[in-house]
Amino acid sequence: MSSPLTIDFSGKCTIVTGGNRGIGLGYSRALARAGSRVAIVYRSNPDAPKVAKELQEQYKVKVQAYKCDVTNAEQTVETFARIDKDLGPVSGLVANAGVSAVKPAFDLTTEDFNKVYSVNVLGVFNSAVAAAKLWRGKDLRNLSIVITSSMSSQIINQAATNEPLTQVFYNSSKAAVSNLTKGLAAEWAQHKIRVNAVSPGYVYTDQTHDLPKKVVEYEKQHIPLGDLARPDQISGQALFLLSEYASYMTGGEYFVDGGQLIW
Ligand code: NDP
Repeated sequence: MSSPLTIDFSGKCTIVTGGNRGIGLGYSRALARAGSRVAIVYRSNPDAPKVAKELQEQYKVKVQAYKCDVTNAEQTVETFARIDKDLGPVSGLVANAGVSAVKPAFDLTTEDFNKVYSVNVLGVFNSAVAAAKLWRGKDLRNLSIVITSSMSSQIINQAATNEPLTQVFYNSSKAAVSNLTKGLAAEWAQHKIRVNAVSPGYVYTDQTHDLPKKVVEYEKQHIPLGDLARPDQISGQALFLLSEYASYMTGGEYFVDGGQLIW
């Protein structure tokens, strides 16, 4: 299903990390539909260039895939500079790439910690800094960074099912990145760079495939709007925050969760 949002991004260029599948693909699609050139940053999925080509053909706007591991600061700076040259000037970033480790706390390892935090916190930081470096000292309008955090920055949701799977590293990494959003917003307000977070509830993607069926069924029954989200139901909030309609908004965290935080 397509999102009805019609903000005009013609002539703009936006980077979406993890933009080749799941929630990120929802962002890439919505941006391309709204007229933005889109740089899809992915880690290793061989289908990413094909996904970019399909979006480009469908929406008649430049969409290109760039392989880059956002946990590597140097590689991220180099890739974003290349994107700026190929498709720029870049004026928006959606720092969306994220991973999880679904295991009981007793089984989580230092390796799991490093995997989750290096993408969800350091990877977001590297992406934000690489974008801000492109913008430093230039007189560009409406520079906006949107970070995909999660409803789990606030709550430990699976605990309600009595499943011994609270994703403690994932949840705490999202609390960290929501706080990082505020820190960067405070520091970069003077450069007129806005930084906000979109925090989805459960969304149907590869990531939620890893969750036990029991958890997904429990959540469906307890989400006020009655189901998990589709990726396209998350994109509208990001487009709004990237747009000039949000030009006085920074440091916020916006929940798109079907009402899950009501209780
Ligand atoms: P997916 O697992 O579907 O996709 C993850 C994306 O991140 C892929 O595009 C992947 O690239 C990319 N990625 C992972 N690691 C790196 C890396 N080191 N460098 C560059 N790209 C990387 O995730 P979702 O769409 O489910 O989630 C997207 C974001 O939304 C994440 O931050 C997640 O935590 C958050 N979120 C998800 C929810 C959900 O219910 N699904 C709920 C709330 C938040 P590749 O394809 O090459 O591997």
